[in-house]
Amino acid sequence: MTIRTRFAPSPTGFLHIGGLRTALYSYLFARQNSGQFVLRIEDTDRSRAVDGAVENLVRSLKWAGIVPDEGVMLASDGTLTEKGEYGPYTQSQRLAIYREHVERLIESGHAYYCFCDKERLDRMRKEQQHAKKPPMYDRHCRALDPAKAAARAAAGEAHVVRLAVPDSEEIVFEDAVRGTVRINSATVDDQVILKSDGFPTYHLASVVDDHLMRITHVIRGEEWLPSTPKHILLYRAFGWAPPTFAHVPLLLNPDKSKLSKRQGDVAVEDYMTKGFLPEALVNFVALLGWNPGKGEVQEIFTLDELLECFSLDGVNKAGAVCDLSRLRWFNAQHIKRLAPEELLERALPFLQKQDFFRTAESQYTAQEYLVRVATVVQERLETLVDFGVEQSSYFFTRPTVEPALLRWKENTDAQTRAALEQAHRVFVAVDESDWTREHLTEVLMAAAGDKRGDFLWPLRAALTGAQRSPSPMDCAWVLGKAETLARIEKAIK
Ligand code: GLU
Repeated sequence: MTIRTRFAPSPTGFLHIGGLRTALYSYLFARQNSGQFVLRIEDTDRSRAVDGAVENLVRSLKWAGIVPDEGVMLASDGTLTEKGEYGPYTQSQRLAIYREHVERLIESGHAYYCFCDKERLDRMRKEQQHAKKPPMYDRHCRALDPAKAAARAAAGEAHVVRLAVPDSEEIVFEDAVRGTVRINSATVDDQVILKSDGFPTYHLASVVDDHLMRITHVIRGEEWLPSTPKHILLYRAFGWAPPTFAHVPLLLNPDKSKLSKRQGDVAVEDYMTKGFLPEALVNFVALLGWNPGKGEVQEIFTLDELLECFSLDGVNKAGAVCDLSRLRWFNAQHIKRLAPEELLERALPFLQKQDFFRTAESQYTAQEYLVRVATVVQERLETLVDFGVEQSSYFFTRPTVEPALLRWKENTDAQTRAALEQAHRVFVAVDESDWTREHLTEVLMAAAGDKRGDFLWPLRAALTGAQRSPSPMDCAWVLGKAETLARIEKAIK
């Protein structure tokens, strides 16, 4: 049997990081088993459709490195396309398929037309509330004569189609994460499977599609667990074998409340524009509810490493705390792992928005110079945005240096000037061909002796004008001899 998984988002605007996790687990599981990962778009709730949402989803997934084998994807020219033999993969293009399946259920007595209008349903619900009964359809239309009901529907009377849920049947299934789940059908509502607008509901469409698309493993969030008994009943009604289900734990805020849905906190695309690396986000969501097993302390994983060690057995039942502040730490770790050239390439789009970058001048070619900047700021970055804003503006414009900043602790102006003049002499003596990080470190440390603060602080301040920055050796290395000397001379003045 070929393992086939799917990610089946509803295009309601953006990819939630919980969705990214579901997609990631489904992708990893399929790839590990030499199977296929399908991307299906569940857009049957027309009231929630948002323009551009599908592109957004597909692009966000691609950015994260999660590329489907089949289904909806990006063509080489960046437009949306579909690939695979079980399409279409967009539910709004499959309405005839759902209709046909609903008719099959009606014919076999597993579903029925319901003509109850809103007023009647509202009244019924109020009475149930009053009597403190669970809100469930009272099966009023289930008693109608099927032939007469079909004739009314054919004549154009407004209707929905409901599943005829058995009175009291044990529904048991093995969840790959949660173990055996048991529920009695008496607690399951006669749910709507076809809406009055002719669109299927989520339940019907997802069961029909998972079956027709030969999905073997449905991996999805725990919020869908209550829907699964309904799905099992649909599989039974059709006479199909259900797939294996794996419900991954809810995502929680650090205070254990359910994770916010506010876009600014949970939209993958926002992390993209805030300077986070896809590697970091993937690493972070992978660990929300999964761990590599007993005794493992590894926290940093690349996608390839996840492919090696992910398993559904390692997914926990308990809700997973999603501490977004940890994401900055993961990002910093993954930034450190990049080659400086690679870091530069990733940071470039962020830098180009900044004025100082546009006016950058240097004695090096832009590329060489920027790789040096990347090399010295790399250790200090939490996001790619920090590259410019926080860490490196002084590499692109000569800073204005506050005289007070030059003084180390209680030192006088005379002591400060002496330190800067000493540094100037040290640099003058260094040949251009020796202008390396190692050599500059060596000569400056030798000159500082046991007076590091007195010597290095004024120098660092003269070169950067900033409270915090990389070391003066690193700054001098980036700036080059001429600019380094010029900045020291300016500070002395
Ligand atoms: N369309 C559903 C969603 O938006 C899919 C749930 C499932 O995976 O079955 O999450």
